[in-house]
Amino acid sequence: MSRIHNFSAGPAALPLEVLQKAQQELTDFRGCGMSIMEVSHRGPEYIQVDASARERMLRLLGIEEGYEVLFLQGGASMQFLMVPYNFLNKDQTADYIATGTWSKKAIKEAKAFGNVHISFSSEQDEFTYVPTNDQLNPSGIASYTHYTSNNTIFGTEFEQEPVCDTPLVCDASSNFLSKPIHTKRHALIYAGAQKNLGPAGVTIVVIEKEFLSKAKATGVPTLLQYGTHVGEMYNTPPVFCVYMVDLVLEWIEQHGGLAGMEAHNKAKAALLYEEIDLDAFYRGTAQKNSRSRMNVTFRLSDPELEKVFIKDAEANGFSGLKGHRSVGGMRASIYNACPVASVEALVQFMQEFRRTRG
Ligand code: PMP
Repeated sequence: MSRIHNFSAGPAALPLEVLQKAQQELTDFRGCGMSIMEVSHRGPEYIQVDASARERMLRLLGIEEGYEVLFLQGGASMQFLMVPYNFLNKDQTADYIATGTWSKKAIKEAKAFGNVHISFSSEQDEFTYVPTNDQLNPSGIASYTHYTSNNTIFGTEFEQEPVCDTPLVCDASSNFLSKPIHTKRHALIYAGAQKNLGPAGVTIVVIEKEFLSKAKATGVPTLLQYGTHVGEMYNTPPVFCVYMVDLVLEWIEQHGGLAGMEAHNKAKAALLYEEIDLDAFYRGTAQKNSRSRMNVTFRLSDPELEKVFIKDAEANGFSGLKGHRSVGGMRASIYNACPVASVEALVQFMQEFRRTRG
């Protein structure tokens, strides 16, 4: 078997044990003589998988009651519009914290439904940092505050959720379940699965029941109402994706839960940032106190040399290191499933590259 070092920003590496278990169960799911993709979504096999994934999610997040877990489609991008569709009226205001491209996309959608107040933006500084609480300038009248907990493109991350006195909505697509969070300080958390949780095709929404009760009662198409997806399944869920998410959640539980993930992710990020900070050859793009533990973004002084770095890296078995097309440079995405050994190998490669090209 040959598995390369995968640093892709998403879809991203999945735990090998999970892939192997899925492979082993693929044609005959737990003795039912069919794959999980071939059974009815209302049959006992899938019902059990779905319930197991929800239970594990709530357990990992430390919430026994007061929240619903939903498995939706349309990606995190659909949540950009579903949140304001359900929770923002024309005459109301929502606060948005603008820390990158994905925040801006969420803002664009919200503007179609009501007023948007930008309570912070680091755009003038090329989104190189996230705010501290005292840098926030809330409207004081917001129906909710939206933030992006990890900025996949710019390599910045909130250490803790922002403090605010409105319901808090989080796009956690690129750091969900990578560390413990204060779930109960959030009204709604959403994340596309394809970074830390499973294959692309399912979006996880964790929503507080009390917040849900404030959703608009009319004017929202059925499928786009959060309430439609609570309780009995309304339509066919992405069954294979939810099955994979359940396996990934099981893997997280077996590896120390969110505290275990945090320790593992901290160690990996420290190895890379240490290498980047060693001298002026590599340059981290995010301000130090905002650095992401999921997406490590860095540059070389010469863009031509960056091309050589990426090409040489590919030739040496490192995939996905090219920075987002909008910002250039390099980005090593080191989500939960990225093994320490891959990061160690990358650091070695970086050292060798510095030695020969520096
Ligand atoms: N938010 C963040 C933070 C992301 O990183 C991404 C995708 N990279 C999205 C939203 C959009 O997700 P999707 O492609 O699932 O719509």
